[in-house]
Order: sequence, then C-alpha cells, then structure tokens
Amino acid sequence: MKTAFRKAIHQLDVLLAPLVLATLREQNAFNTYLFHALFKDREELKLHLCDPQQQVTVGMFRDFVIYHLEKGYTFVSVPDVLKGLEPDKKYLMITFDDGYYNNHRALPILEEFQVPATFFVSVNHVLQEKAFWWDVAYREGKKAGKTDGEILAEKNMLLSKTDDEVERYLEAEYGERAFQPVSDTDRPMTADELRKFSQHPLVHIGNHTCDHAVLPNYSEEGVERQIVEAQVKLERIIGYRPLSIAYPCGDYTNHTLEVCRREGIALGITVHHAKNFYSSLHDRNSLLTLNRFTIWGTEELKSQCDFYRSDYHILEKMRNLYHRIRPQHQYQKNSQRIV
Ligand SMILES: [Zn+2]
Repeated sequence: MKTAFRKAIHQLDVLLAPLVLATLREQNAFNTYLFHALFKDREELKLHLCDPQQQVTVGMFRDFVIYHLEKGYTFVSVPDVLKGLEPDKKYLMITFDDGYYNNHRALPILEEFQVPATFFVSVNHVLQEKAFWWDVAYREGKKAGKTDGEILAEKNMLLSKTDDEVERYLEAEYGERAFQPVSDTDRPMTADELRKFSQHPLVHIGNHTCDHAVLPNYSEEGVERQIVEAQVKLERIIGYRPLSIAYPCGDYTNHTLEVCRREGIALGITVHHAKNFYSSLHDRNSLLTLNRFTIWGTEELKSQCDFYRSDYHILEKMRNLYHRIRPQHQYQKNSQRIV
C-alpha cells in the first residue's frame, strides 16, 4: 500500500476510535507503553540538546496516567505480570527505555498516582557516563548544519551497525568529545543515581543490553555478551538481576530469546504496536516478545490513547487482506525507527 493512502486510512481509524470505543466494548488486555526522554516542557526541546525522539513532556506524561486511571486501567510492574494477571481486567505497564537521568522527572507523577514503572537501562552508558549515539548524531548534526532529513537518514543507516561501528563513525565525523553529555537533559544516570533510583518502591529496572545493542546486528557471541554482561553489571549496581528486557529498537532473534531464557529473563518487550491479550501471558515465547505502544508528543494524547484502546482498525483489516493477496510483500518500515 502506498504511504499516503496508508496514512489517510490511519487518520480515519484515529477519527473513528472514540466511536468504536462507544460502540464495541473494549477488550481486556495488558497494554504496555514506551517512553524515552522526558522533557520539562516544549521550550527544552528547542535547545537541541538531544534527539527529540517522541517529544513527550512531563505534563503529557501526567495526562497519560490520568487518562488511563479514568478508563479503569490497573498499572502493573514486571513482577505483577509474572505473578499472573486476571483475565477480566485492563492492565497497563509504563516503560522507559535507555536510562536517561531526565526519567527522574517521572517520579513525582508515579508517587502522586501510586503507579509503578519499569526502566530499561543500557548499562555501559551509565557506567561510562557516555551520551547516547543518536543524541550525539542529532546535536552535532544540527551544529554542523545538517537538515532534519539528513540526520534522520544517518540515524536509520547507523541502526544497522554494532555499537563499535556507530561510535567509530561518529567519532570520525565529530571527534571523541562528542560522546560527552552536555546537560541533565541528554545524560544517562550515573551508577550512584541508578542505585538510588532503583530503590524507589515504584521503580523497576530491566535490561536494555550493555551498549544499546541492536541485537540482530551482532554475532551469537556478541548477543550473549550484550545480554549476560548487562545482567551482571546491573546486579552490581541495583542488587538484583533483572527479570525483564526491552530489546533495543525492539529487534531480536530466536537466539536472543534462548539467551534470555537461560539468564532467567522471563519478560521481553518489543516495539510492535499491539495489545497483549491474556492468552499470550501464559506462553513463554509470547511473554518474551510482548507488544508495546509508543506515545508521541507531536500528536494529541487522547486521540492516540483512544486509537490504541480501540479494537477495530480499518487499516489492519486492509493489511490482512493485502497480505493474503500478496504474501511476499514486505511493508516499508516507518521512516523513524524507535531506539
Ligand atoms: Zn533504547
């Protein structure tokens, strides 16, 4: 399907979502949501300190929590999910990826509403106090006068490489110092901050590999090292081995799942936009490849949440039909991939 046509049908689905929700009873499910950096406000985004990514502000995050509490959602943590959820309720898990220091801004909101959240941490960034490469590419690219399109194309190219290759590329382009964070907005937590953060009763920590490794770009040994060493290093900081992992960019292989099982990681999460139904929580493989929605600060919050909660999407029906006719066809990936 052509991109413009697909976008138009998606917009129609977004418009129809409140009507669908008013007509068809929302199916009970376990929905998980992905956040990255949490910006103080829209003004902070204009400083170009880091890749704006989803552009979610603290205020928007608070509204997100209120919206779902009003819709009757129960907020859960990884241990809650592993203990077992009830089939007749709607559940939600908040997740933040990467380990940004700015994630501390979520704490007052978690406390205000007494809801837990899981933070997936790229541990070498914490230990080495090193900026995330996509932030380096954005910040330095902007300074060098690159357009947003050029920066995005470069980011998409780098997502097919290992962390070493990415660093070599960016260091050659901008120098080694470019990996020094420039503010509290773009820096990862320090190990001490992460230790203290992890002790908060509403905070749960998960594995996001050692070096934010996009795992299919690595050899089997590389995948093993990225996951196992992250478990060990995180345990040294937070005092326990995580039971969960968020695969960087949502990408994994069958071997990745084997390594996770061996390491006692029972819950794995991707960036495939879909609900998780109760049946999938009893299947070991499904539990290691859970779906997750992404919220965008550039779009209206209620429309996005209504759309994700809605169980009837015309675009999905058309895709199913299209795939049946042309089973070999691969859909073009979104131009902006999630890190
Ligand atoms: Zn990430």
